[in-house]
Amino acid sequence: MMVLNTAWEIDQGRDPREKVSMVKFHASEMLGRVVDRGVQIFGGMGYTKEFIMERLYRDARVLRIYDGTTEIHKMVIARSLMKNGVPAL
Ligand SMILES: Cc1cc2nc3c(=O)[nH]c(=O)nc-3n(C[C@H](O)[C@H](O)[C@H](O)COP(=O)(O)OP(=O)(O)OC[C@H]3O[C@@H](n4cnc5c(N)ncnc54)[C@H](O)[C@@H]3O)c2cc1C
Repeated sequence: MMVLNTAWEIDQGRDPREKVSMVKFHASEMLGRVVDRGVQIFGGMGYTKEFIMERLYRDARVLRIYDGTTEIHKMVIARSLMKNGVPAL
């Protein structure tokens, strides 16, 4: 829904930076939580290279670093909210 909403904002010609940062921040953090839980479910085997879980965990981890780190996206979101205000729910 966030991705679709952001694509719609772009189609409307609006500045999508705040939404893009929200999508990237949310998706990469959520993926991190999901694969972390996956490793936990696999137990010790989830940490070994015998199962794909270790690869998924490692690949997911870098998503919080490239294409803007989580901290930088938080700054983009915070600056936008301070400038434009918090939207009404
Ligand atoms: C696998 C991989 C592929 C990559 N591919 C590309 C690519 O194709 N093109 C490209 O241009 N780059 C690429 N990069 C580089 C990537 O964009 C940078 O690693 C990323 O921007 C973070 O920069 P940095 O590594 O210098 O960390 P730093 O900027 O040194 O950040 C280190 C830590 O400090 C935090 N931090 C930094 N500044 C602040 C601040 N002002 N406030 C709070 N926290 C802050 C960061 O969030 C991070 O946690 C790639 C990196 C990796 C690992």
